[in-house]
Amino acid sequence: MKMLFNPSITMKRILILAIVVLSLLVTVLVYVTGGIQFAYSHAMYVPVIIGAIMFGILGGALSGFLGGLLLGPLMPISVAESSMQDPINWLTRMFFFVLIGIVTGYIVKELKQYFKKRIEYHSHLPDARIPLITRLYEDYENAAPETIENSALIYIKVLNYNNLNDYLGHQAYIKLLGNLFIRLNKALSNQVMIYSKDIQSLIITIRDKHTQKDVVEHIESTLIKPFYLNNIPVHLETVIGAAEYDETIDVTIQHAIKAARSAEHNFFTSVIYHEDLEVNQQRINLGFVLDAIRDDDFYLLFQPQYNTDQTIICLEALIRWNHKNYGNIPPNEFIPLIEQTSLINPLTEWVIKTALKRLHELKQHGHHIKIAINISTKNLYYKDFYANVKAWLEYYEVSSDQIEFEITESTLMHNPKASEMTLHALKDLGVQLSIDDFGTGYSNLSYLSAFSVQKLKIDRSFIAKMSVDASARTIIETAINLASGLNIETVAEGVETSEQLTTLKTMGCHYVQGFYLSKPLAYDDVLMMLNQ
Ligand code: C2E
Ligand code: MG
Ligand code: MG
Repeated sequence: MKMLFNPSITMKRILILAIVVLSLLVTVLVYVTGGIQFAYSHAMYVPVIIGAIMFGILGGALSGFLGGLLLGPLMPISVAESSMQDPINWLTRMFFFVLIGIVTGYIVKELKQYFKKRIEYHSHLPDARIPLITRLYEDYENAAPETIENSALIYIKVLNYNNLNDYLGHQAYIKLLGNLFIRLNKALSNQVMIYSKDIQSLIITIRDKHTQKDVVEHIESTLIKPFYLNNIPVHLETVIGAAEYDETIDVTIQHAIKAARSAEHNFFTSVIYHEDLEVNQQRINLGFVLDAIRDDDFYLLFQPQYNTDQTIICLEALIRWNHKNYGNIPPNEFIPLIEQTSLINPLTEWVIKTALKRLHELKQHGHHIKIAINISTKNLYYKDFYANVKAWLEYYEVSSDQIEFEITESTLMHNPKASEMTLHALKDLGVQLSIDDFGTGYSNLSYLSAFSVQKLKIDRSFIAKMSVDASARTIIETAINLASGLNIETVAEGVETSEQLTTLKTMGCHYVQGFYLSKPLAYDDVLMMLNQ
C-alpha cells in the first residue's frame, strides 16, 4: 500500500520502463496478429491505466500518448495487405487513450486523497493532528526486538482537562493539546515519538531507556511556560509517569500510567515506575475491603489526648488493617485509595459503630470519655450519614457529646456546599467537629466559623520542627491565638519530647497528643490505663 502511493526513484524508473515495455509488447501483439483491424489494440489500455495509477494525470496522459503513437502512423490496418490507417483513425484512438489516461489519473488522485484523509482521521487525534496510540502499536510491531527492549515510555496526563474543557471550550482545548504536541516535538527532537492515548493524555516513546529521567525533566521544564490561546496565557497542569519497556507494550503502558497515578496521589510532578508501586497495589485490593469489614480484619487503636494536667480527655480512634496475606497495613496506605470510592461509607460505618461499641463498654467499666473519629469528607456527601450517626448513637446508648469527628483541613474545602448541611445538622445533634492536620491545607479561614469548628489539631509537621524552626513556632503560636479568639480549642499532634510539651503549654495550647505521652493503644491497654 505504502509502495503504491510513494514509490522510490528507482521504483519509479522500473515502473516507467515496465510501462514502455508493456506498450511495445502490445504493439508487437497487434502487428503479429495482423494489424489494427482486430480488437487486440484494446490491450493498450492496460499500460495506459497502469501509467495513470502509478503517475497520476500526467502519467496517464503520457502513457495514452505513447500508446496512441505506437499504434499510430506506422501501424498498418492489415499487415497482409500493407494498408495504412487514415490519420483521423489513429488520432481518434490516441485521443481516447489520452482521455482514459487523464480520467483514470484524476480518479486515482481523488481516491488517494480520500484514503489519505481517512487514514489520517483514523490514525490521528482529529484537529490536534497527534498520531493515535494505534500507530504506536504499529510502530512497535515493525521495530526490531533490540530497539523495543531498549525503549521506554512516558505517559503525560492533563490534570486540569475538565476545567480547560469547560472554560475554553472543546475546540480550544484540542488546539492547546495540538500546541503541546508541537512544543514537545520541538523540545525533544527526533529521539522520541509522541502519540495521543486519549483526549486527556499523551504517550511518548523514547529510544534509549537510560535517558528516561533526563527526558522527563526536560518535559517538566518545557511545560512550565504557559501556552497562549488568543493571547491568553493558559497553564497545563500535568502529571508524568515513565517506565522502561517490560514484556509487552500494554504492560509498559500500564506501568507508566501506574507511575503517573502514584505521582498524582503523592503530589509529585513525575514518578518513574519501580516495582514497589506493584507491591502497594497488590496489598491494597479494593475488591477485598467489604470482605475484610465482614471478617473483622480491621481493628481500632486508640491514642489518648491529654490536657495540660496530663489527664486523658479524649481517645482518637485510628484504624488498622490486619490483612490476611500482608499483615498490618497502616491507614495512610489504604484510606486514600478507599476514599476515592464509595467503599469509604461502609468502612466509616464500621469505624463509628466499633468506636461507639467501645464507648458503651467503657461506660460499663465506669469511664465516661470522649472518642475522636476520623471521617472522610466524602462521608458527609452521603445522604444518610446524619440519620445513621443519630441512629447508631441511640443504639449504643452513647451521648452525642461523647464523639467528635475529625476532618482533614485540605479535604474539607473540596466541596464546602455539599458538606455544610450535614455538618450543621451534626453540630445541632451535639457532635463536635475538629479540623485535623491544621496548617497543611486551605488558607481561607472563613470555614472555621462557617462550620462551627470546635477544635483545631495543629499538624505534627509544625510540632516536629518547632525547636529548630522559628517560623514553625510562629505558625503554632498564631494558630493558637487565632483559635482562642474564635473560641476554638487547640490540640498539638505528634508531641514527641518533654521540651515540645513544655513549650506548647506556655503557648496556651489546650491539649496534646503524641508518642511522648502515649502511642496508639489497643482497647485492652486503654482500659487498663483508665482503670489505674
Ligand atoms: P491523623 O488523624 O492525623 O492521626 C494521627 C496520626 O499521627 C496517626 O497515624 C498517629 O499514629 C500518628 N501519631 C500520633 N502521635 C505521633 C507522634 O508523636 N509522632 C508521629 N510521628 N506520629 C504520631 P496513623 O494511625 O498512621 O493514621 C494516619 C492517618 O490516617 C490519620 O492521621 C488519619 O488521617 C487517617 N486515619 C486513621 N484512621 C482513620 C479512620 O478510621 N478513618 C479515616 N477516614 N481516616 C483514618
Ligand atoms: Mg486524626
Ligand atoms: Mg492529624
